[in-house]
Amino acid sequence: MKKLGLNEIRERFLKFFESKEHLRLPSFSLVPHNDPSILLINAGMTPLKPYFTGLEKPPAYRVTTCQKCIRTPDIENVGKTARHGTFFEMLGNFSFGDYFKKEAIPWAWEFFTEDLEIPADKLYVSVYEEDDEAFDIWNKDVGLAPERIFRMGKEDNFWEHGTGPCGPCSEIYFDRGEENGCGSPDCTVGCECDRFIEVWNLVFTQFNKEEDGTYSKLEKKNIDTGMGLERLAVVMQGVNNLFEVDTIRNILNYVCEKAGLQYDEQTGVSIRVITDHIRSTTMMVSDGILPSNEGRGYVLRRLLRRAARHGRLLGIKDAFLYDVAKVVINESRDAYPELEEKADYICKVIKIEEDRFAATIDQGLTILNDFIAQIKASNGSELPGDMVFKLHDTYGFPLDLTREIAGEEGLTIDEDGFKAEMGEQKRMAREALKSKVSSAWGQDLTAGLDKSLKTVFTGYDSYEDEAELSYIILDGSHVDNAQQGDEVTLILDKTPFYAESGGQVADTGFIRTKTGSVRVKDCRKTAEGLFLHLGTVEEGIVEKGTAVRASIDVERRLATARNHTTTHLLQRALRNVLGEHVTQAGSYVDSERIRFDFHHFSPMTRDELRQVEGEVNRKILENLTVDIREMPVDEAKKEGAMALFGEKYGNIVRVVKAGSYSTELCGGTHLKQTAQAGLIKILGESGVAAGVRRIEALTGQNAIDYYCQKEDQLNEVAGVLKTAPQDTLRKAEAISADLKAALKEIEQLKDKLVSGSFDEVLEKAEDVKGLKVVIARFDQLGMEELRNTCETLRSKIGSGVVVLASAFGGKVSFVAMATKDAVERGAHCGSIVKEAAKAAGGGGGGRPDMAQAGGKDASLIDKALKSALDAVKAQIK
Ligand SMILES: [Zn+2]
Ligand SMILES: [Zn+2]
Repeated sequence: MKKLGLNEIRERFLKFFESKEHLRLPSFSLVPHNDPSILLINAGMTPLKPYFTGLEKPPAYRVTTCQKCIRTPDIENVGKTARHGTFFEMLGNFSFGDYFKKEAIPWAWEFFTEDLEIPADKLYVSVYEEDDEAFDIWNKDVGLAPERIFRMGKEDNFWEHGTGPCGPCSEIYFDRGEENGCGSPDCTVGCECDRFIEVWNLVFTQFNKEEDGTYSKLEKKNIDTGMGLERLAVVMQGVNNLFEVDTIRNILNYVCEKAGLQYDEQTGVSIRVITDHIRSTTMMVSDGILPSNEGRGYVLRRLLRRAARHGRLLGIKDAFLYDVAKVVINESRDAYPELEEKADYICKVIKIEEDRFAATIDQGLTILNDFIAQIKASNGSELPGDMVFKLHDTYGFPLDLTREIAGEEGLTIDEDGFKAEMGEQKRMAREALKSKVSSAWGQDLTAGLDKSLKTVFTGYDSYEDEAELSYIILDGSHVDNAQQGDEVTLILDKTPFYAESGGQVADTGFIRTKTGSVRVKDCRKTAEGLFLHLGTVEEGIVEKGTAVRASIDVERRLATARNHTTTHLLQRALRNVLGEHVTQAGSYVDSERIRFDFHHFSPMTRDELRQVEGEVNRKILENLTVDIREMPVDEAKKEGAMALFGEKYGNIVRVVKAGSYSTELCGGTHLKQTAQAGLIKILGESGVAAGVRRIEALTGQNAIDYYCQKEDQLNEVAGVLKTAPQDTLRKAEAISADLKAALKEIEQLKDKLVSGSFDEVLEKAEDVKGLKVVIARFDQLGMEELRNTCETLRSKIGSGVVVLASAFGGKVSFVAMATKDAVERGAHCGSIVKEAAKAAGGGGGGRPDMAQAGGKDASLIDKALKSALDAVKAQIK
């Protein structure tokens, strides 16, 4: 048997299947494409799923690959034994409705026995117990003796995953010899021991499992085989486990060298952890994954931090993983050229993560050991959730790292408690985020910078520029690099980003480097002339001193320019219409609207607003050329430039002219021609301070949107009024007139109703010592009508007292009136209504001859009127 290196075995496999007319595809990325069900590619066929399901057309019907795979479910066992690893490569040949068992089985045999020259007596196979077809091919076509072919059950030799395509499989086993066996007389293929190891699985997808559990035949049968490259290398190299395989052993040896230790039982666990984890993490970073607290980024972080901690256990004090990564790159660069292309980047990402963890790991370990000692001292067996959370949050210990360390001391951890703490933190983080952007500006970001540094602004002429990333500020301090998710402030040597000034908002956009990109949300200029770009790293990492491409959001810049240039026209038009006393008191333009404050003494009339708006629109339509020049300030004044009162200008000023219509000193960004503004729509005018008025206006698309909205509103109103839009005014007037007439009619009907009941009320009038006392309720009347009614009744009774109440429109009212003689005999209306109102939970009072009051509880009106009558009786002498 030939002793072949891992890289040679891979190449031989792919070449062999190329000779069988297979298309060799490079390994797919570890990041699944369009498959949210998994975080990382975990098998050779996974990225080919769309070809098997028919969702996508394969580039060829025969394909062969060597696929990078990562599996992390048993991460805690990796290192403890030599059997487990998180990273492996999977060889496979695939048929999409092309060849089937008759080719796949003999080819597998041919590759093993002829290409790799594995002695036939070392090989055994298994087939699904009912798959006579496969049995016969092995037996008759290949010539394998029946006693070397094992029939196995569904558990072992049938591949299915829920419903859908499935089928039997056939596995090829390698006999590692009696010396690796368990010694049991039953030891044979299928035994759990290390003698017979399964190396290649051939899956024959020939059925479709239906919803009802039955199997139907697939029209297009597929072949899908998988063979772990490392495991095959173990066999070919006659070694005991994957850590002894040539390329992997080279990595392991370098770890030993770094630690200054020999590989033995004692150091074995940590050395294997590091050797395995550096393989998977190097591959993950080369596929664009970055350490983070979520998803696959978190898998990467966990692996790197676990490896870093095992480095500490070996006594390695400094960052070292990034250096070991170079060995991984070197061992695999032929198969994965991207490793070499991205070598610097990969090492840098790993180094950053190591450095970040290094800042907290020692302190975290001390604290964790204290926790563990405390719990053991109190005979506890579980690390509380808040402690686990503190280690995670403050010291960057991934959950499973804490679990592993606690486990080494025989303790478990409270995972539910940890999750509860995490949930609470996420909630608080969401709230804190709102204030984060504004507070970032509060810090002194430029302390410690090279004083001579200035940013050159190139944004007057271009929207995009190549520049150098001079500084990165993260959390208030200068750093060399920043990565995905970081909120950063960047300083460039030159920039097209306009920094907020002169009432014009800052540009937004992107700053991209070869390795990452930052979304810029704001830009400000310091007194020293530095432009600070505030943003978030959205992808990759960015590094100080590298070349960047800075590009602004052009649409937003243009919308802002429409508003700014139009503001200049607006100022001129205001002076023309209102007088030369108009001067700018302040202005603010962004991509949404114009806000222009100016000195003027009285509110503008509607006519004046129309005139100003009309004049600006005419100047837009005249398509004046906007001419921008720099010149000495005296010359600018001669040209008639409007300068802001009290503003300091340098010797050289920037003069912005719109035709011969407007001339202003201005540092903003402008249109080239006024017609680009489209139109202006003044929204309104209001006072903001004594002698200062404010106009708000829209231009361009915003103005068009405004008119569309108005039209929609008019159409809606027309719909409600059931008329055409152009008839809404007439219709509204008609409805208003109808309503007025109807209200008048209601009024008259009420009067009739009330006066009709007068006779009835007067009949019930009580005689109190010769005076007539009328007590009545008119619930349909409001206070004013109730007063009128009371007066009418008083005049009808001639001599006496009238007390009325009503519960109308949610209000309880009382009115009392007395004739002159009744007052002379002691009647006092003020006290009467006071009594009544008190009984109904309210208050009020008034003169002896007339008074009114309000109550609260309508259900008490009758009782209140009774109190009023009692009061009258007591008053009359
Ligand atoms: Zn055995
Ligand atoms: Zn301006």
